[in-house]
Amino acid sequence: MHSYLTNLECTYCDAAYSADEANRLCAECGKVLYPRYDLEGASAALDKEMLKDRPANMWRYFEVMPVRDPANVVTLGEGFTPIFKAERFGPEMGCSDLYIKDEGVNPTASFKARGLSAAVSKAKELGIAKITMPSAGNAAGAMTAYAAKAGIESFVFMPQDAPESNQKEVVITGGELNLIDGLISDAGVLSRARAAEEGLFDVSTLQEPYRVEGKKTMGYEIAEQAGWTLPDAIIYPTGGGTGIVGMWKAFAEMEAMGWIGSHRPKMFAVQAEGCAPMVRAFEQGTEFAEPWQDAQTIAPGIRVPGGIGDYLILNAVRESGGGALTVSDDEIRDYMGRVARSEGMFICPEGAATAAALEKLLSDGLLDPDENILLLNTGSGLKNLDLV
Ligand SMILES: *Cc1c(COP(=O)(O)O)cnc(C)c1O
Ligand SMILES: [Zn+2]
Repeated sequence: MHSYLTNLECTYCDAAYSADEANRLCAECGKVLYPRYDLEGASAALDKEMLKDRPANMWRYFEVMPVRDPANVVTLGEGFTPIFKAERFGPEMGCSDLYIKDEGVNPTASFKARGLSAAVSKAKELGIAKITMPSAGNAAGAMTAYAAKAGIESFVFMPQDAPESNQKEVVITGGELNLIDGLISDAGVLSRARAAEEGLFDVSTLQEPYRVEGKKTMGYEIAEQAGWTLPDAIIYPTGGGTGIVGMWKAFAEMEAMGWIGSHRPKMFAVQAEGCAPMVRAFEQGTEFAEPWQDAQTIAPGIRVPGGIGDYLILNAVRESGGGALTVSDDEIRDYMGRVARSEGMFICPEGAATAAALEKLLSDGLLDPDENILLLNTGSGLKNLDLV
């Protein structure tokens, strides 16, 4: 197997960078870098039928993954998660074609495993010995787990009220846990300062180019698992936005390789009423999002007051003809129970936010009940036992 990775490219000013050095953000404009591939070469080498014989994890798309040497892949079996038809919850909502992709079955019990498997693998390939990040929760546990597997030292900066499960998974996997009095944005400042002092590589969301490559594999899987078709709509709980922009990138790559056509799902970004910077920017029609003050929600993965990927999220949502909307914490709690009782899935609060959003999108007429709709359950509710 061979990766067709060519270089890194700025998503804002198109400046090009090497993918064989430890680059993070664009040196010209400070914006997000994306790995780019020779997609013609990749599609010539990899017929999508060949995927049938590959292992059921996200590295099955190796030709369009950013690691050059398969020996550098650090994997715990992440990805290729099931998509279930919501046989009971769908009709309860009046929907005939509703699906849930269950990311809760990933290693470390959330889809953060995808991003961190990719980022830690690339860090290993680049010879990086120490990594750091701020995290609202699940990213930290995933980072320290993959770092342990890779033999890389890891440092985490986390709000002191982050879920106990996330704190403990950092400790048990040998990461250095720094609890702080503040939000993930405050944690980010401390993480970057420590990185500068001690030469750590900071793997904050979208501030290094490779986590998005792990998360984009959700987009590849959604197509592959549905016989190379895409749903009419995807509802996604949006924090830093790596997942939504990653899927959007995957769709473009697959079209360039001739694997899918030009149909795109309407992408809906869901946030919490107490932390909705992307929803506010979407409604105001701005290119970027102002940071949200006093962010509050029971769903830790979307308690993210702002982020460097704002313009990418807003762009994907707008280009797709989708939208951005909020749900309340009470609705999140309510839908955790409703989905669990009807589908047997103990979904995370962020996943429950997508189910709550579905109700609003149907009642506002933004989605039709007979459309093919996919909810992303991004993690397991077992990491948030305090909410039950
Ligand atoms: C991090 C996280 C999110 C938000 O993901 P982004 O890609 O950063 O927007 C959603 N749900 C869970 C469970 C998370 O851990
Ligand atoms: Zn740039």
